[in-house]
Amino acid sequence: MARLVMKFGGTSVADIDRIRNVARHVKREVDAGHQVAVVVSAMSGITDQLVGWCQAALKKRQLFDAREYDAVIATGEQVTAGLLAITLQDMDINARSWLGWQLPILTSNAHAAARILEVNGAELIRRFNDHKEVAVIAGFQGLHQETARITTLGRGGSDTSAVAVAAAIRADRCYIYTDVDGVYTSDPRVVPRARRLDKIAFEEMLELASLGAKVMQVRSVELGMVHNVRIFVRSSFDRPEDIDPHRNPPGTLICDEEEIVEQQVVTGIAFSRDEAQISVREVADKPGVAAAIFVPLAEANINVDMIVQNVSADGQTTDLTFTVPAADYHRALDVLAKAKGAVGYARLDGATDVAKVSVIGIGMRSHAGVAAQAFHALAERAVNIRAITTSEIKFSLLIDAAYTELAVRTLHSLYGLDQATS
Ligand code: ASP
Ligand code: MG
Repeated sequence: MARLVMKFGGTSVADIDRIRNVARHVKREVDAGHQVAVVVSAMSGITDQLVGWCQAALKKRQLFDAREYDAVIATGEQVTAGLLAITLQDMDINARSWLGWQLPILTSNAHAAARILEVNGAELIRRFNDHKEVAVIAGFQGLHQETARITTLGRGGSDTSAVAVAAAIRADRCYIYTDVDGVYTSDPRVVPRARRLDKIAFEEMLELASLGAKVMQVRSVELGMVHNVRIFVRSSFDRPEDIDPHRNPPGTLICDEEEIVEQQVVTGIAFSRDEAQISVREVADKPGVAAAIFVPLAEANINVDMIVQNVSADGQTTDLTFTVPAADYHRALDVLAKAKGAVGYARLDGATDVAKVSVIGIGMRSHAGVAAQAFHALAERAVNIRAITTSEIKFSLLIDAAYTELAVRTLHSLYGLDQATS
Protein backbone atom coordinates (compact mmCIF):
# COMPACT_ATOMS: atom_id res chain seq x y z
CA MET A 1 0.00 0.00 0.00
CA ALA A 2 1.26 3.43 -0.90
CA ARG A 3 -0.06 6.91 -0.30
CA LEU A 4 -0.36 8.94 -3.49
CA VAL A 5 -1.20 12.43 -4.66
CA MET A 6 -2.58 12.58 -8.21
CA LYS A 7 -2.81 16.04 -9.75
CA PHE A 8 -4.74 16.69 -12.97
CA GLY A 9 -4.34 19.91 -14.96
CA GLY A 10 -6.96 21.85 -16.90
CA THR A 11 -6.78 19.94 -20.18
CA SER A 12 -7.09 16.65 -18.28
CA VAL A 13 -10.44 17.75 -16.80
CA ALA A 14 -11.63 19.82 -19.77
CA ASP A 15 -15.03 18.10 -20.05
CA ILE A 16 -17.13 15.40 -18.41
CA ASP A 17 -15.63 12.62 -20.54
CA ARG A 18 -12.13 13.58 -19.50
CA ILE A 19 -13.19 13.84 -15.87
CA ARG A 20 -14.48 10.30 -16.21
CA ASN A 21 -11.12 9.24 -17.62
CA VAL A 22 -9.45 10.90 -14.62
CA ALA A 23 -11.80 8.99 -12.31
CA ARG A 24 -10.73 5.76 -14.00
CA HIS A 25 -7.08 6.61 -13.36
CA VAL A 26 -7.98 7.19 -9.70
CA LYS A 27 -9.96 3.94 -9.53
CA ARG A 28 -6.99 2.02 -10.83
CA GLU A 29 -4.88 3.20 -7.89
CA VAL A 30 -7.68 2.68 -5.37
CA ASP A 31 -8.26 -0.86 -6.66
CA ALA A 32 -4.55 -1.52 -6.21
CA GLY A 33 -5.04 -0.72 -2.51
CA HIS A 34 -3.48 2.74 -2.42
CA GLN A 35 -4.59 5.78 -0.43
CA VAL A 36 -5.27 8.63 -2.83
CA ALA A 37 -5.58 12.40 -2.61
CA VAL A 38 -6.46 14.00 -5.94
CA VAL A 39 -5.73 17.67 -6.68
CA VAL A 40 -7.55 19.26 -9.60
CA SER A 41 -7.25 22.40 -11.72
CA ALA A 42 -10.15 24.28 -13.25
CA MET A 43 -11.43 22.95 -16.58
CA SER A 44 -9.18 24.41 -19.28
CA GLY A 45 -10.07 27.96 -20.29
CA ILE A 46 -12.23 28.57 -17.22
CA THR A 47 -9.68 30.54 -15.19
CA ASP A 48 -8.99 32.76 -18.21
CA GLN A 49 -12.70 33.39 -18.57
CA LEU A 50 -13.04 34.27 -14.89
CA VAL A 51 -10.09 36.68 -15.14
CA GLY A 52 -11.75 38.23 -18.20
CA TRP A 53 -14.97 38.80 -16.27
CA CYS A 54 -13.08 40.56 -13.47
CA GLN A 55 -11.51 42.87 -16.03
CA ALA A 56 -14.81 43.51 -17.78
CA ALA A 57 -16.44 44.44 -14.45
CA LEU A 58 -14.19 47.49 -14.12
CA LYS A 59 -15.29 50.62 -15.93
CA LYS A 60 -13.81 53.39 -13.83
CA ARG A 61 -10.97 51.90 -11.83
CA GLN A 62 -7.67 50.61 -13.14
CA LEU A 63 -7.21 47.82 -10.60
CA PHE A 64 -9.56 45.49 -8.84
CA ASP A 65 -9.58 44.51 -5.22
CA ALA A 66 -7.29 41.47 -5.25
CA ARG A 67 -9.37 39.78 -2.52
CA GLU A 68 -12.46 39.83 -4.72
CA TYR A 69 -10.43 38.78 -7.76
CA ASP A 70 -9.35 35.71 -5.78
CA ALA A 71 -12.94 35.06 -4.68
CA VAL A 72 -13.87 34.89 -8.37
CA ILE A 73 -10.95 32.98 -9.89
CA ALA A 74 -10.82 30.34 -7.13
CA THR A 75 -14.24 29.06 -8.22
CA GLY A 76 -13.03 27.13 -11.27
CA GLU A 77 -11.35 24.51 -9.10
CA GLN A 78 -14.42 24.14 -6.88
CA VAL A 79 -16.47 22.99 -9.87
CA THR A 80 -13.95 20.34 -10.94
CA ALA A 81 -13.46 19.03 -7.41
CA GLY A 82 -17.21 18.53 -6.98
CA LEU A 83 -17.63 16.98 -10.41
CA LEU A 84 -14.80 14.52 -9.89
CA ALA A 85 -16.18 13.51 -6.48
CA ILE A 86 -19.60 12.89 -8.09
CA THR A 87 -17.99 10.84 -10.86
CA LEU A 88 -15.99 8.74 -8.40
CA GLN A 89 -19.06 8.10 -6.27
CA ASP A 90 -20.86 7.04 -9.44
CA MET A 91 -18.16 4.39 -9.80
CA ASP A 92 -18.81 3.26 -6.22
CA ILE A 93 -15.68 4.84 -4.86
CA ASN A 94 -15.96 6.63 -1.55
CA ALA A 95 -14.86 10.21 -2.25
CA ARG A 96 -15.42 13.77 -1.08
CA SER A 97 -14.34 17.20 -2.26
CA TRP A 98 -12.26 19.65 -0.22
CA LEU A 99 -11.86 23.37 -0.77
CA GLY A 100 -8.75 25.20 0.39
CA TRP A 101 -10.51 26.70 3.43
CA GLN A 102 -11.91 23.35 4.50
CA LEU A 103 -8.67 21.45 5.03
CA PRO A 104 -7.40 24.16 5.53
CA ILE A 105 -4.56 25.14 3.22
CA LEU A 106 -3.24 28.25 4.96
CA THR A 107 -1.44 30.85 2.89
CA SER A 108 0.13 34.28 3.10
CA ASN A 109 -1.94 37.36 2.46
CA ALA A 110 -0.45 38.04 -0.99
CA HIS A 111 -3.67 37.77 -2.97
CA ALA A 112 -3.29 36.35 -6.49
CA ALA A 113 0.24 35.19 -5.63
CA ALA A 114 -0.12 33.72 -2.16
CA ARG A 115 2.40 31.31 -0.68
CA ILE A 116 1.35 28.19 1.13
CA LEU A 117 2.30 28.32 4.81
CA GLU A 118 0.72 25.14 6.11
CA VAL A 119 -1.51 22.30 5.00
CA ASN A 120 -3.43 20.28 7.54
CA GLY A 121 -3.48 16.71 6.29
CA ALA A 122 -4.57 15.01 9.52
CA GLU A 123 -8.22 14.62 8.61
CA LEU A 124 -7.33 13.24 5.17
CA ILE A 125 -5.12 10.59 6.72
CA ARG A 126 -7.80 9.66 9.27
CA ARG A 127 -10.35 9.22 6.49
CA PHE A 128 -7.96 7.15 4.36
CA ASN A 129 -7.50 4.80 7.28
CA ASP A 130 -11.04 4.68 8.64
CA HIS A 131 -13.19 5.02 5.52
CA LYS A 132 -10.94 4.34 2.53
CA GLU A 133 -12.11 7.74 1.32
CA VAL A 134 -10.51 9.44 -1.67
CA ALA A 135 -9.88 13.15 -1.07
CA VAL A 136 -10.57 15.41 -4.06
CA ILE A 137 -8.92 18.75 -3.37
CA ALA A 138 -9.46 22.00 -5.25
CA GLY A 139 -6.01 23.18 -6.34
CA PHE A 140 -4.84 26.78 -6.68
CA GLN A 141 -6.69 28.09 -3.62
CA GLY A 142 -6.11 28.62 0.06
CA LEU A 143 -7.14 30.65 3.06
CA HIS A 144 -5.53 33.58 4.81
CA GLN A 145 -6.34 32.76 8.38
CA GLU A 146 -6.34 36.19 10.03
CA THR A 147 -8.61 37.79 7.46
CA ALA A 148 -10.52 34.57 6.65
CA ARG A 149 -10.32 35.48 2.96
CA ILE A 150 -9.85 33.08 0.06
CA THR A 151 -6.48 33.36 -1.66
CA THR A 152 -5.03 31.95 -4.89
CA LEU A 153 -1.48 30.85 -5.58
CA GLY A 154 -0.71 32.46 -8.94
CA ARG A 155 -1.38 30.99 -12.39
CA GLY A 156 -0.46 27.35 -12.60
CA GLY A 157 -0.70 27.13 -8.81
CA SER A 158 -2.45 23.75 -8.64
CA ASP A 159 0.95 22.11 -9.09
CA THR A 160 2.04 23.80 -5.90
CA SER A 161 -1.13 22.72 -4.09
CA ALA A 162 -0.39 19.13 -5.10
CA VAL A 163 3.19 19.13 -3.86
CA ALA A 164 2.18 20.86 -0.61
CA VAL A 165 -0.54 18.26 0.01
CA ALA A 166 1.94 15.48 -0.77
CA ALA A 167 4.35 16.87 1.83
CA ALA A 168 1.56 17.28 4.40
CA ILE A 169 0.25 13.72 4.11
CA ARG A 170 3.75 12.29 3.64
CA ALA A 171 2.82 10.80 0.29
CA ASP A 172 5.15 8.29 -1.29
CA ARG A 173 4.81 9.99 -4.64
CA CYS A 174 3.16 12.98 -6.25
CA TYR A 175 1.90 12.31 -9.76
CA ILE A 176 1.45 15.32 -12.01
CA TYR A 177 -0.86 14.18 -14.81
CA THR A 178 -0.75 16.60 -17.70
CA ASP A 179 -1.08 16.90 -21.48
CA VAL A 180 2.54 15.92 -22.14
CA ASP A 181 4.12 12.65 -21.11
CA GLY A 182 7.05 14.10 -19.20
CA VAL A 183 9.88 16.60 -19.19
CA TYR A 184 11.92 16.84 -22.39
CA THR A 185 15.53 17.81 -23.06
CA SER A 186 14.16 20.79 -24.99
CA ASP A 187 10.92 21.96 -26.57
CA PRO A 188 10.04 19.21 -29.12
CA ARG A 189 8.32 21.80 -31.35
CA VAL A 190 11.70 23.44 -31.93
CA VAL A 191 13.97 20.44 -31.50
CA PRO A 192 12.35 17.44 -33.19
CA ARG A 193 15.03 15.19 -31.72
CA ALA A 194 14.36 16.22 -28.13
CA ARG A 195 13.82 13.24 -25.88
CA ARG A 196 11.92 12.59 -22.71
CA LEU A 197 14.07 12.45 -19.59
CA ASP A 198 13.56 9.49 -17.26
CA LYS A 199 14.79 11.52 -14.32
CA ILE A 200 15.72 15.08 -13.61
CA ALA A 201 17.09 16.62 -10.41
CA PHE A 202 15.02 19.21 -8.53
CA GLU A 203 17.61 21.91 -9.12
CA GLU A 204 17.69 21.30 -12.85
CA MET A 205 13.91 21.29 -13.05
CA LEU A 206 13.84 24.51 -11.09
CA GLU A 207 16.10 26.13 -13.69
CA LEU A 208 14.08 24.70 -16.58
CA ALA A 209 10.80 25.92 -15.07
CA SER A 210 12.21 29.37 -14.27
CA LEU A 211 13.56 29.64 -17.80
CA GLY A 212 10.17 29.09 -19.33
CA ALA A 213 9.55 25.34 -19.65
CA LYS A 214 5.85 25.40 -18.88
CA VAL A 215 5.47 21.91 -17.44
CA MET A 216 5.19 22.96 -13.80
CA GLN A 217 4.84 26.08 -11.69
CA VAL A 218 8.26 27.13 -10.38
CA ARG A 219 7.04 27.28 -6.77
CA SER A 220 5.93 23.66 -6.89
CA VAL A 221 9.42 22.48 -7.82
CA GLU A 222 10.92 24.60 -5.04
CA LEU A 223 8.53 23.08 -2.55
CA GLY A 224 9.27 19.56 -3.81
CA MET A 225 12.97 20.21 -3.35
CA VAL A 226 12.54 21.55 0.20
CA HIS A 227 10.33 18.67 1.34
CA ASN A 228 11.92 16.04 -0.89
CA VAL A 229 8.61 15.08 -2.53
CA ARG A 230 9.28 12.77 -5.47
CA ILE A 231 7.27 14.14 -8.39
CA PHE A 232 6.38 12.08 -11.41
CA VAL A 233 5.18 13.92 -14.53
CA ARG A 234 3.06 11.77 -16.84
CA SER A 235 0.25 11.94 -19.37
CA SER A 236 -3.41 11.80 -18.36
CA PHE A 237 -4.43 10.87 -21.89
CA ASP A 238 -3.27 7.27 -21.53
CA ARG A 239 -6.12 4.86 -21.08
CA PRO A 240 -5.97 3.46 -17.55
CA GLU A 241 -6.69 -0.06 -18.93
CA ASP A 242 -3.55 0.07 -21.04
CA ILE A 243 -1.20 0.76 -18.16
CA ASP A 244 0.91 -2.24 -17.23
CA PRO A 245 1.11 -2.23 -13.42
CA HIS A 246 4.38 -4.16 -13.52
CA ARG A 247 6.28 -1.61 -15.58
CA ASN A 248 7.15 2.01 -14.99
CA PRO A 249 4.74 4.18 -16.97
CA PRO A 250 6.22 6.69 -19.43
CA GLY A 251 7.03 9.91 -17.66
CA THR A 252 9.74 11.85 -15.86
CA LEU A 253 10.68 11.55 -12.21
CA ILE A 254 11.78 14.80 -10.56
CA CYS A 255 13.90 13.75 -7.62
CA ASP A 256 16.97 14.31 -5.54
CA GLU A 257 20.19 14.26 -7.56
CA GLU A 258 21.44 11.34 -5.42
CA GLU A 259 18.85 9.17 -7.13
CA ILE A 260 20.25 9.86 -10.57
CA VAL A 261 22.95 7.34 -11.21
CA GLU A 262 24.01 8.14 -14.73
CA GLN A 263 24.21 11.89 -14.59
CA GLN A 264 24.76 13.58 -17.95
CA VAL A 265 26.80 16.76 -17.97
CA VAL A 266 23.98 18.64 -19.69
CA THR A 267 20.35 17.75 -19.05
CA GLY A 268 18.40 20.26 -21.06
CA ILE A 269 18.36 23.36 -23.24
CA ALA A 270 15.78 26.05 -22.56
CA PHE A 271 15.11 29.23 -24.47
CA SER A 272 13.00 32.31 -24.27
CA ARG A 273 12.17 34.89 -26.88
CA ASP A 274 10.48 37.14 -24.33
CA GLU A 275 13.63 39.10 -23.65
CA ALA A 276 14.76 42.62 -24.41
CA GLN A 277 18.22 44.11 -24.21
CA ILE A 278 19.01 47.60 -22.97
CA SER A 279 22.43 49.27 -23.08
CA VAL A 280 23.14 52.35 -21.02
CA ARG A 281 26.00 54.03 -22.87
CA GLU A 282 28.90 56.02 -21.51
CA VAL A 283 28.27 56.16 -17.81
CA ALA A 284 30.94 57.27 -15.37
CA ASP A 285 32.92 54.33 -13.96
CA LYS A 286 32.45 55.14 -10.28
CA PRO A 287 30.68 53.73 -7.22
CA GLY A 288 26.93 54.23 -7.10
CA VAL A 289 26.23 54.15 -10.82
CA ALA A 290 24.87 50.61 -10.89
CA ALA A 291 22.62 51.46 -7.96
CA ALA A 292 21.36 54.57 -9.76
CA ILE A 293 20.35 52.37 -12.70
CA PHE A 294 19.05 49.21 -11.05
CA VAL A 295 17.34 50.52 -7.93
CA PRO A 296 14.69 52.50 -9.87
CA LEU A 297 14.10 49.44 -12.10
CA ALA A 298 13.62 47.24 -9.05
CA GLU A 299 11.26 49.81 -7.55
CA ALA A 300 9.24 49.64 -10.75
CA ASN A 301 9.09 45.84 -10.27
CA ILE A 302 11.10 45.18 -13.41
CA ASN A 303 13.16 42.02 -13.24
CA VAL A 304 16.68 42.51 -14.55
CA ASP A 305 18.35 39.32 -15.64
CA MET A 306 21.70 39.28 -17.47
CA ILE A 307 24.05 42.16 -16.69
CA VAL A 308 27.27 42.93 -18.56
CA GLN A 309 29.57 45.88 -18.04
CA ASN A 310 32.26 46.89 -20.46
CA VAL A 311 34.44 49.82 -21.45
CA SER A 312 32.73 52.36 -23.70
CA ALA A 313 33.93 53.20 -27.18
CA ASP A 314 35.50 56.40 -25.82
CA GLY A 315 37.72 54.39 -23.47
CA GLN A 316 36.89 56.70 -20.55
CA THR A 317 33.48 55.57 -19.44
CA THR A 318 31.62 52.31 -19.16
CA ASP A 319 28.58 50.73 -20.87
CA LEU A 320 26.07 48.70 -18.90
CA THR A 321 24.04 46.15 -20.84
CA PHE A 322 21.28 44.04 -19.32
CA THR A 323 18.08 42.22 -20.18
CA VAL A 324 14.51 42.69 -18.99
CA PRO A 325 11.31 40.80 -19.91
CA ALA A 326 10.14 42.01 -23.33
CA ALA A 327 6.80 43.01 -21.79
CA ASP A 328 8.62 45.50 -19.53
CA TYR A 329 10.90 46.96 -22.21
CA HIS A 330 9.13 50.28 -22.76
CA ARG A 331 8.48 50.77 -19.08
CA ALA A 332 12.18 50.16 -18.37
CA LEU A 333 13.20 52.74 -20.96
CA ASP A 334 10.83 55.24 -19.32
CA VAL A 335 12.28 54.56 -15.88
CA LEU A 336 15.81 55.05 -17.21
CA ALA A 337 14.88 58.24 -19.04
CA LYS A 338 13.65 59.65 -15.73
CA ALA A 339 16.85 58.54 -14.01
CA LYS A 340 19.08 60.17 -16.60
CA GLY A 341 20.11 63.03 -14.32
CA ALA A 342 21.03 60.73 -11.46
CA VAL A 343 22.91 58.20 -13.65
CA GLY A 344 24.53 60.60 -16.09
CA TYR A 345 24.70 58.51 -19.28
CA ALA A 346 25.13 59.61 -22.90
CA ARG A 347 22.30 57.54 -24.44
CA LEU A 348 20.20 54.40 -24.28
CA ASP A 349 20.24 51.62 -26.90
CA GLY A 350 17.85 48.73 -26.94
CA ALA A 351 16.71 45.69 -28.87
CA THR A 352 13.74 43.38 -28.56
CA ASP A 353 14.69 40.93 -31.30
CA VAL A 354 16.87 38.92 -28.92
CA ALA A 355 16.54 35.50 -27.33
CA LYS A 356 18.06 33.83 -24.31
CA VAL A 357 19.29 30.27 -24.72
CA SER A 358 20.20 28.40 -21.54
CA VAL A 359 22.09 25.18 -21.02
CA ILE A 360 21.34 23.34 -17.78
CA GLY A 361 22.98 20.42 -16.04
CA ILE A 362 24.15 19.51 -12.57
CA GLY A 363 27.14 17.80 -14.16
CA MET A 364 28.57 21.24 -14.93
CA ARG A 365 29.61 21.50 -11.31
CA SER A 366 32.29 18.92 -11.86
CA HIS A 367 33.13 19.48 -15.53
CA ALA A 368 35.20 22.38 -16.82
CA GLY A 369 34.89 23.85 -20.29
CA VAL A 370 31.22 23.07 -20.90
CA ALA A 371 30.39 26.65 -21.87
CA ALA A 372 33.53 26.98 -23.97
CA GLN A 373 32.30 24.13 -26.18
CA ALA A 374 29.12 26.09 -26.82
CA PHE A 375 30.99 29.26 -27.75
CA HIS A 376 33.02 27.31 -30.25
CA ALA A 377 30.04 25.54 -31.82
CA LEU A 378 28.04 28.75 -32.14
CA ALA A 379 31.00 30.65 -33.59
CA GLU A 380 31.28 28.00 -36.30
CA ARG A 381 27.69 28.76 -37.24
CA ALA A 382 28.31 32.52 -37.11
CA VAL A 383 25.91 33.04 -34.22
CA ASN A 384 26.95 36.16 -32.35
CA ILE A 385 26.70 36.16 -28.56
CA ARG A 386 25.57 39.47 -27.07
CA ALA A 387 25.79 38.61 -23.39
CA ILE A 388 26.60 35.65 -21.17
CA THR A 389 25.71 34.71 -17.63
CA THR A 390 26.73 31.64 -15.73
CA SER A 391 25.85 29.93 -12.49
CA GLU A 392 26.93 26.65 -10.97
CA ILE A 393 24.58 24.48 -13.00
CA LYS A 394 23.64 26.60 -16.02
CA PHE A 395 24.80 29.21 -18.45
CA SER A 396 22.70 31.51 -20.58
CA LEU A 397 23.54 33.22 -23.84
CA LEU A 398 21.80 36.19 -25.34
CA ILE A 399 21.66 36.02 -29.14
CA ASP A 400 19.73 37.49 -32.06
CA ALA A 401 16.22 36.03 -32.02
CA ALA A 402 16.54 34.96 -35.65
CA TYR A 403 19.13 32.36 -34.61
CA THR A 404 17.15 30.80 -31.78
CA GLU A 405 16.29 27.52 -33.53
CA LEU A 406 19.74 27.12 -34.99
CA ALA A 407 21.42 27.76 -31.65
CA VAL A 408 19.12 25.48 -29.65
CA ARG A 409 19.47 22.60 -32.12
CA THR A 410 23.22 23.05 -32.36
CA LEU A 411 23.65 22.90 -28.60
CA HIS A 412 21.21 20.02 -28.28
CA SER A 413 23.38 17.91 -30.60
CA LEU A 414 26.63 19.22 -29.18
CA TYR A 415 25.84 17.92 -25.70
CA GLY A 416 24.63 14.55 -26.92
CA LEU A 417 20.97 15.11 -26.17
CA ASP A 418 19.58 14.14 -29.59
CA GLN A 419 17.36 11.13 -29.71
CA ALA A 420 18.77 8.28 -31.73
CA THR A 421 17.00 8.08 -35.08
CA SER A 422 15.43 4.71 -35.70
N1 ASP B 1 -6.61 27.13 -12.85
C1 ASP B 1 -5.44 27.86 -12.49
C2 ASP B 1 -4.78 28.43 -13.73
O1 ASP B 1 -5.30 28.27 -14.81
C3 ASP B 1 -4.47 27.05 -11.70
C4 ASP B 1 -3.92 25.82 -12.38
O2 ASP B 1 -4.50 25.33 -13.36
O3 ASP B 1 -2.89 25.31 -11.95
O4 ASP B 1 -3.79 29.08 -13.64
MG1 MG C 1 -0.40 23.84 -15.21
